Amino acid sequence: MSAKAETMNFQAETKQLLELMIHSIYSSKDIFLRELISNASDALDKLRFEAVTKKDLIKEGETLHIRIEADKDKKTITIHDNGIGMSRDEVIENIGTIAKSGTREMLQKLQKSKKKEDFENLIGQFGVGFYSTFMAADKVTLLTKRAGEDSATQWESAGAGTYEIFDAEKDARGTSITLHLKPSDKDEALDDFTEDWVIKKIVKQYSDFISYPILMKEETEEEKDGKKTKIVEDVTINSMKPIWIRPKSEVSDKDYNEFYKHISHDWNDPLKTILFSAEGRIEYKALLYVPSKPAFDLFFQNAKGGLRLYVKKILILEALEDLLPRYLRFVKGVVESPDVPLNISREMLQKNQMVLQIQKGLAKKILDSLKEMLEKEKEKYESFFKEFGAAIKEGINSDFENREKIASLLLFHSSNSQSLTTLKEYIDRMKSEQKDIYFLTGDSREIVENSPHLESYKSKGYEVLYLLDPVDEFVLDSLQEFDKKKIKNASKSTTDIATEEEKKKTEEKMKTEGKKFEDLIKYISEKLSEEVKEVKISTKLVSAPACIVGDENDVSPHLERLLKQHGDKLPKTKRILEINPEHTVIKKMLDRFTKDKNDPLLADYAELLYDYSLLAEGAAVTNPVKFTGLLSQLMDKAI
Ligand code: ADP
Ligand code: MG
Repeated sequence: MSAKAETMNFQAETKQLLELMIHSIYSSKDIFLRELISNASDALDKLRFEAVTKKDLIKEGETLHIRIEADKDKKTITIHDNGIGMSRDEVIENIGTIAKSGTREMLQKLQKSKKKEDFENLIGQFGVGFYSTFMAADKVTLLTKRAGEDSATQWESAGAGTYEIFDAEKDARGTSITLHLKPSDKDEALDDFTEDWVIKKIVKQYSDFISYPILMKEETEEEKDGKKTKIVEDVTINSMKPIWIRPKSEVSDKDYNEFYKHISHDWNDPLKTILFSAEGRIEYKALLYVPSKPAFDLFFQNAKGGLRLYVKKILILEALEDLLPRYLRFVKGVVESPDVPLNISREMLQKNQMVLQIQKGLAKKILDSLKEMLEKEKEKYESFFKEFGAAIKEGINSDFENREKIASLLLFHSSNSQSLTTLKEYIDRMKSEQKDIYFLTGDSREIVENSPHLESYKSKGYEVLYLLDPVDEFVLDSLQEFDKKKIKNASKSTTDIATEEEKKKTEEKMKTEGKKFEDLIKYISEKLSEEVKEVKISTKLVSAPACIVGDENDVSPHLERLLKQHGDKLPKTKRILEINPEHTVIKKMLDRFTKDKNDPLLADYAELLYDYSLLAEGAAVTNPVKFTGLLSQLMDKAI
């Protein structure tokens, strides 16, 4: 060990992750090679980007490459690159720690789960590439020299809690990573990674498309005049063909998937691959992927998205956000266009008309592909929607051009069945006389199913959407209509499903009933003046004695509760209490009221009616002490 040697501890999370890796149940240990090649390729990209302004970083005639070397006797495999390299500080930061927030939560989940798929999924979401080396090695050495610096750094670890870092010597810029391999073991899927054919097979399988040559030394024997001579030559073991340019028939799904893993740092296969080429005013090719799981930070405020931009097979930008509308930021992929000028800066591309044109084209294509998935592979689409539905919903209020199309991609629970439905399917099932689309909100299916508001819809055979995701109410309120059908909240006083005939009937009835109940209604209104703004006779209720309805512009109680939980200070919304004149409780209240206006029981019942209505829609009663007091008195009397 030379100067400035230090033994350092891995960050606690890293340590845990490493332990999991080392004792991994992960099936394919050979992916360490894919991960190291992917990192080397990233490092070469970074060097190229830096060399745009610092020309002398890359010498003339120098080829950027990756080299794999194996040593059978020492049982090592080394992956070299002449990319950007790392300074001492960068090694500590990039290799010793996992800076990603949410790592702790992930590890807790991982440790609880013994299932292989969960492990793969979760590890995959975090893309902890470098650590995968410890699945195949019992010691890993990294030697690196940052471009533009003179000193080199060596890092070494057996993966057990600590690593050593010290200043070292290295001639060339770049990084070499050496794995001291564990003994090969078929059961453990540990091949002999020092075998040339094994290395070639793995590279072909995972890294063929890498745009830099992956070199290996190959030894051949030549016989000349009866004398055998050994010749050592460099061979390139990857085809380097850009995968989005190759004809679809030539590329297997697996190839597409491996490319996805390289650009996304995700370990899982994508859910959908979209290959697209546009001709016309602007020419471009795109290879896009919908991941199967969202990145851990997709719904964080400053989540980064973006697609890779290539011009003439050369990577220009690693992530250009403007190639996608923000709500589609979960899509990964590559865009190549010969029309983009080669030496254009990110700043200039950002508001560039051409880029915005491409964005439009891609958004349309992605939405169409999702629609196709919805129509042809509903189950797959449901799994997509479960993971990314929240992002799609953002589009309703940001991509007005595609609004109707986005709306057609939404899925909802409904009174129709246990499975999810689209708005179109809802409309197809609508009764001929039904005019509008109706919805109710609530915390769970069960609560909405038992909502007193639902009854009249049910009795008419009208389907009602159940909005269980709080954001859905915003989404549908702002959407207002779909396919020329108005979308209405069934718990609003203004939403009426009565036919003209029925209306006439109730009007007549109201004249008499209204008179009968007038004084009682006044009485209840006074008793509940703190809670409700109005008490009315209901024309909709069937079996419930009362319910609470909102005015046109009132937020629903469900949403109000969520906003409050969120810390929003809202003025108390007073809603309307509707009572059911056909219900025996209401009838008996009227009897008592007619006999004695001052009967103390009536005040209690007014409160009970209100609390009952709150509970019926899944809300909490305003004063639980008072409520339980009243309830127990009542129980006492009734028994
Ligand atoms: P990811 O590639 O998803 O960032 P990794 O664990 O594969 O995660 O790599 C961690 C980090 O280590 C990289 O982001 C990079 O900064 C650094 N790194 C790894 N390999 C190299 C390399 N060959 N050259 C330069 N930096 C590297
Ligand atoms: Mg990586």
